[in-house]
Amino acid sequence: MEFSSRARQKHARLAGDRREQYPHSLQFYLEPPTESISLVEFENFAIDRLKLLKVVENLGVGYVRSTETYKTKLEHELRKLKFPYRALAEDDYEARRKDHISHFILRLAYCQSEDLRRWFLQQEMDLFRYRFNQLTDSLMQKFLEHVNLSFEAISEDLKNELTDELCASTPGFSLSKVKEQMFYKVGLADAVDLFRARRVFIKDGFAYVPFKEIDVIVLNNYRTKLSKALALTARSLPSIQSDERLQPLLNHLSHCYVGPDYSVQKNTGKISLEQIDALSVKSFPLCMRQLHRALRDSHHLRHGGRMQYGLFLKGIGLTLEQALEFWKKEFIRGKVDADKFDKGYAYSIRHNYGKEGKRTDYTPYSCMKIIMSNPPSQGDYHGCPFRHSDPELLKQKLQSYKIPPSGITQILDLVKGMHYQLACQKYFELTHDVDDIGFSLNHPNQYFSESQKLLSGGRELKKELSNSGNFQQKNNSQESMNSNSTPTSSNATADTELEGLEAFFTED
Ligand code: SF4
Repeated sequence: MEFSSRARQKHARLAGDRREQYPHSLQFYLEPPTESISLVEFENFAIDRLKLLKVVENLGVGYVRSTETYKTKLEHELRKLKFPYRALAEDDYEARRKDHISHFILRLAYCQSEDLRRWFLQQEMDLFRYRFNQLTDSLMQKFLEHVNLSFEAISEDLKNELTDELCASTPGFSLSKVKEQMFYKVGLADAVDLFRARRVFIKDGFAYVPFKEIDVIVLNNYRTKLSKALALTARSLPSIQSDERLQPLLNHLSHCYVGPDYSVQKNTGKISLEQIDALSVKSFPLCMRQLHRALRDSHHLRHGGRMQYGLFLKGIGLTLEQALEFWKKEFIRGKVDADKFDKGYAYSIRHNYGKEGKRTDYTPYSCMKIIMSNPPSQGDYHGCPFRHSDPELLKQKLQSYKIPPSGITQILDLVKGMHYQLACQKYFELTHDVDDIGFSLNHPNQYFSESQKLLSGGRELKKELSNSGNFQQKNNSQESMNSNSTPTSSNATADTELEGLEAFFTED
């Protein structure tokens, strides 16, 4: 793939029509794209695929994959984002091209660590499974031939000869069903999963696989190919990272949050400092609740915590003056005197608000940024508790917040499956007493604003998955009473500039 340096040109398409490259709506992504593409199109394609994979993740946790609801919602998203959604659609060249190119871009961005690779592989597999199962029998056959997986269908004579064995070894198959279905002779290496699960008849080193089980083999094959490809791509990262046009984009994509950046605060000045304790219990996500608690308890936060929490508070509407007062009041309760605060910490808070240095208006951190970068060490309270806390400690924390045992189990299961944002969504549902969060959580400030909307009764609860949601809060206020006290290009720029800002926060 080549990239045009005229990044912002209006007509982003540079390549000619290459219809013959995409004989199928589905592919194994074996050949990388070779055409020229503008950076605008590169970024747009990547963000759309990321949005799609996020929806795939959400649906995979919320619904059984074989249900009509799951399929309808996924098809809706594919249509909306203009990816191929129907295998039969003849005239979807643009969608197929976008599908091909966007897959390879995210492959570059998501090969960079084990966590990223695993997440990407899981979502791509789910997407592929859905699409493969949407194919008609004849298209399935065509696709299998195209990817050199054309298994040999056994003859009617052989099937009749083996009917009893096939019936006995293939769960759910009666004699009549064996007669109806086509069976394929597949090498054992390709049918390991079916063989292990004792779902196929084995003879002379071959598995006899019914047509309806072929998807297991195809998926297995795709998984092997994609995980190898990701490992290979990771090895070529150094040369990709030396490309100064691509490196920031790819880094940004792997920490990408695709939604508002919360840099413009509609609520600026509408929140009083006295409200923060109560808000931290009612409407802060766990990461910010943890930071607030730590600040109130120890009257100090190390620089990672100050960055994460300070920008979040700015995002919920604290003015610069309020922020200075808030941090100062708390810090001088600890070991920092007023003079030291004014000389050291006040500068960094003003910097945070774009009043010092490069005068950049810094954006609050997204979940992906918090989850993927700068993990907390001993004495730190920043990070995402679902990602960075020991499960036992997380469990204790949730118990202390009166989350019911069944809810804790659900949250810990999601954490175990590395669905950290979904675990956070579940936490939202449980603390707001709603069945379905109704939106896809990507940002701590989004959590806050959705919580506030719900608590102020501004919206009706949606039971269906959509981009918005709302809720009702359970009374859980003893903590405050006890207190003593995605992806847009602008995000990429802000992230880069933030690195500079962090230098001002290095003092512990
Ligand atoms: Fe915070 Fe996001 Fe983690 Fe929730 S998922 S605790 S909002 S970083």
